[in-house]
Amino acid sequence: MVDVFERERVMHGISRRKLTVLRSELVAPRMQRVTLGGAELEGFVAFGPADHVKVFLPDPADGKIYAPEFVDGRRVIPEGSGEIIVRDYTPYSFRPDAEDGPELDIDFVLHGDGSEQGGPAPAWAASAKPGSELVIAGPRGSVLAPVGAASAILVADESALPAAARWLDAFADTPVIGLFAVADAGTASYLASREGSGRELRWFTGEDRDAQVAEALRGIEIGEATFVFAAGEANSLIGLRKYLRRELGLPKDQVNVQGYWKRGVVALDHHASLDPSDPED
Ligand SMILES: Cc1cc2nc3c(=O)[nH]c(=O)nc-3n(C[C@H](O)[C@H](O)[C@H](O)COP(=O)(O)OP(=O)(O)OC[C@H]3O[C@@H](n4cnc5c(N)ncnc54)[C@H](O)[C@@H]3O)c2cc1C
Repeated sequence: MVDVFERERVMHGISRRKLTVLRSELVAPRMQRVTLGGAELEGFVAFGPADHVKVFLPDPADGKIYAPEFVDGRRVIPEGSGEIIVRDYTPYSFRPDAEDGPELDIDFVLHGDGSEQGGPAPAWAASAKPGSELVIAGPRGSVLAPVGAASAILVADESALPAAARWLDAFADTPVIGLFAVADAGTASYLASREGSGRELRWFTGEDRDAQVAEALRGIEIGEATFVFAAGEANSLIGLRKYLRRELGLPKDQVNVQGYWKRGVVALDHHASLDPSDPED
């Protein structure tokens, strides 16, 4: 039997790249796009819709970036290293053939206002200027979209909108329903260029937006060949994953639920189990 959800994996050599900010712009109400360039971008690849890179940020104490080196595939912490400040980000767009050399866009959610505590990543992105430096590593590998999926459902908060954009590109000829929870209705502009026939992109705002998304998902008939990707705040996804995997009994390959951040947790390890009481089988 053909597995419609089978996904090809491509491994890449791990490398660390010191990049320079070329420009930075607000592309949606809370989304800062930082465009990076530099000779070390040569050879960068990111084939998978949910690929991520490790972003190493300057230590605010001395302004220096501390990052591991990779020697024969081994991670080595340089002698005298200060604090390594690292977060996961989606390589939103890579243009290897840009006029003045390769360019990489990374979109940072500026989440540091209101009752939420900001972190070092949005603080850096908000103040990045042409010439500022950043170190990235990865992606270590890419998992491609399932080629046999007949349709897809994407669930994302703002942190996963860059991934959702990449999924929409990967599913160019596949019908997609998107359920997006955002703080500001204006954020819908972020995916405006990807609207079109076969796309139903629905936006949810308000304090209870994650709950609204979970409710909307329950109203959608999920077919046997419908692939589901969901990413965002980890706790808000526990019930959603339970619904998909346990209530509907969808197989593991059909459902990819990823905690991208967790309220009150600094630098969430996204490899940790989303729901320790119900680990993936
Ligand atoms: C595979 C993967 C891809 C990702 N891609 C992106 C991406 O493209 N763009 C992006 O913006 N994020 C992305 N994230 C999420 C990002 O890594 C986290 O949000 C990270 O915690 C940001 O670091 P920070 O310095 O903002 O906050 P931290 O120092 O990690 O945390 C400080 C505080 O901020 C809170 N917090 C963290 N993130 C958010 C948020 N989004 N909204 C509200 N509060 C938050 C934490 O709960 C904590 O209380 C991705 C995560 C993963 C695992």
